[in-house]
Amino acid sequence: MSLSQEWIARADRVIMKTYGRYPIVPVRGQGCELWDADGRRYLDFLAGVAVNNLGHCHPKVVAALQQQAANLIHCSNYYHVPSQIELAELLCSLCFADQAFFCNSGAEANEAAIKLARKFSREKYGAERYEIITAADSFHGRTMATVSATGQEKVQRFFDPLLHGFKHVPFNDLEALRATVGPQTCAVLLEPIQGEGGINVPSVDYMRGVRQLCDERQLLLIFDEVQTGLGRTGKLFAHEHFDIAPDIMTLAKALAGGAPIGTMLARAEVAAAFTPGTHGSTFGGNPLMTTAALAAVRAILEEGLLERAQAMGSYLQERLASLQRFPCVREVRGIGLMVGLNLTIPGAEIVNQGHARGVLLNCTHDTVLRFVPPLVVTREQIDEMIGILERILAEI
Ligand SMILES: *Cc1c(COP(=O)(O)O)cnc(C)c1O
Repeated sequence: MSLSQEWIARADRVIMKTYGRYPIVPVRGQGCELWDADGRRYLDFLAGVAVNNLGHCHPKVVAALQQQAANLIHCSNYYHVPSQIELAELLCSLCFADQAFFCNSGAEANEAAIKLARKFSREKYGAERYEIITAADSFHGRTMATVSATGQEKVQRFFDPLLHGFKHVPFNDLEALRATVGPQTCAVLLEPIQGEGGINVPSVDYMRGVRQLCDERQLLLIFDEVQTGLGRTGKLFAHEHFDIAPDIMTLAKALAGGAPIGTMLARAEVAAAFTPGTHGSTFGGNPLMTTAALAAVRAILEEGLLERAQAMGSYLQERLASLQRFPCVREVRGIGLMVGLNLTIPGAEIVNQGHARGVLLNCTHDTVLRFVPPLVVTREQIDEMIGILERILAEI
């Protein structure tokens, strides 16, 4: 038995089966590369599902974690945390928001957004106004409220009754949204580009129309930028592509260069609805993670990674478009380094073949290969991945 096989046998006994895990045991990472327990190298085009935007073990994130770990790891939100304050200042200086709440994951950030939207709306407009409209094929997390918000039956199945007060409408369909808004509606929650739903990019007209509709009907617009945020699409935040801003935004995945953190950002008027005792998190915004996040966000800005995501994103999309000569390849879609290759067949076998040949690929929504590599990916690495993909497609 190889070392990887030994780990897998042990996992089988003690790890709950919530994931359909591949038989790979990564133990070390550097940039866009991972090595498994048996020393096999993989080129990583999943990047921890859009988490490792800076690549694995970015030296500035590693140094921040090491230094802060030796200084203070946790102290409680009963006290003030300098790195949390600095991170909030930095993030607010980079977007529409005035204030931040910190937590530990994307789902928690969306939970906070849902609670804030409800509390703000009930106090301003009355208790009947609590409903949140989200999109079909959306993904907002795995907690009960975010499962209820998610527009995918496969995520909701088995967990009835769901939280009351969510309605789902088709994405990129302004009329459907307009028709669903009622006196009970308090907010619209959308991913600016759907990730798990298959890399769905809405039209500029739709996104601007949503903003306008929210203004007309006095609804909060919440953007879930957990996957799209922090340079993934070539802008720091994906909503910048549409020249609009939300009232509330959630971030997580790439925020701390691989370390777990989430945040919910809002305009001051909305943020004011969270008063002492109304929401909280033991670990949220702790010194260790916020120090890592400060290093990660600064690195994204200082190392030109937005420009890099644009340039490498165009190159990746161009190379993927050349695969349309294969009959099972339908279309390429995406922005920056958030790219989907839509297939006419399920992508699972291509992913397995990729693993066997040393490249970590991902398939979402059954038939969409999703490419979300580190933003530090090189042309040569894209070429290497495309070469492997070409050989797989030629054999299929
Ligand atoms: C990953 C993801 C989440 C959930 O984040 P967790 O950290 O897994 O809770 C929520 N929304 C979007 C858009 C995501 O991609």
